Amino acid sequence: MNLRQIVAAVRNPKNEEDERTSNRRFPGKDCAWRTAVKFSGLRAKSQRKRSAVVTRRSRLVAGNWKMHGSRASNGALLQAVLAGLPRESGAEVVVCPPYPYLQQVSERLAGTSIAWGAQNLSEHGSGAYTGEVSAAMIKELGCRYVIVGHSERRTLYGETDAQVAAKFAAARAAGLTPIACVGETLAEREAGRTEEVVARQLHAMLEKADFGAAVLAYEPVWAIGTGRNATPGEAQAVHAFLRRQLSPDVRILYGGSVKAQNAAAIFAMPDVDGGLIGGASLAAGEFIEIVRAAQ
Ligand code: PEP
Repeated sequence: MNLRQIVAAVRNPKNEEDERTSNRRFPGKDCAWRTAVKFSGLRAKSQRKRSAVVTRRSRLVAGNWKMHGSRASNGALLQAVLAGLPRESGAEVVVCPPYPYLQQVSERLAGTSIAWGAQNLSEHGSGAYTGEVSAAMIKELGCRYVIVGHSERRTLYGETDAQVAAKFAAARAAGLTPIACVGETLAEREAGRTEEVVARQLHAMLEKADFGAAVLAYEPVWAIGTGRNATPGEAQAVHAFLRRQLSPDVRILYGGSVKAQNAAAIFAMPDVDGGLIGGASLAAGEFIEIVRAAQ
């Protein structure tokens, strides 16, 4: 069965036959993909039970600071965000600074409601990998989260699906929560290949590790840092497609030019559980409004 057929099977659960056929299609008792497809069948069979589960998903807004900041500007940004966040925020908030500032951020945020994470990690445990940072090191800095497979890593640094999957597995094994990014380029969207691409990227990770409590981020490449966001409907369609392949309680974030002004409409979509925010996470006022929109 090729990837297009897998995508078709997930899109249309009616095409799933019985367990016997499913076993033929996905041989191997540990095939995470078969489990994922079975979830889509579950959805069709037990919509009521599924919606009960869905309501348990908590909202999450994660700020990806990318390669921005200084000790002074980080301090001011965190101060403003902490002061402006609603006391009883219904959404979990995370910031992901560059590596050198994780210590500063961990000291400033310890004991607050904001968690922190890294933007990348090595797929290796330790060794002669100059310039790399392991999952254990990130964990030691108190990180709960780590972004994996961001499109800038894929396109600028040539990270392959296999490498992203190895990083995903390393993060899971270390007890970190990966924020695993998938998304199509504009050319892939225009060629009608969005589902095929995001399924391939997700599938690579599911082959290496259970998804567990990891977070998925749908980030169309054409919307990242461009000011052109997916419409709420476009985001919802891909999120619903991705959700059919995972446990119903997996949180799926949207990322790509989310701003205070468009966040509420995107977060109102039933399968959008929050956002991965780049540029707007560097402006305290914008970020706070986006968190408010997620509640
Ligand atoms: C990102 O970097 O993950 C991102 C979504 O960036 P931006 O919000 O700036 O588009």
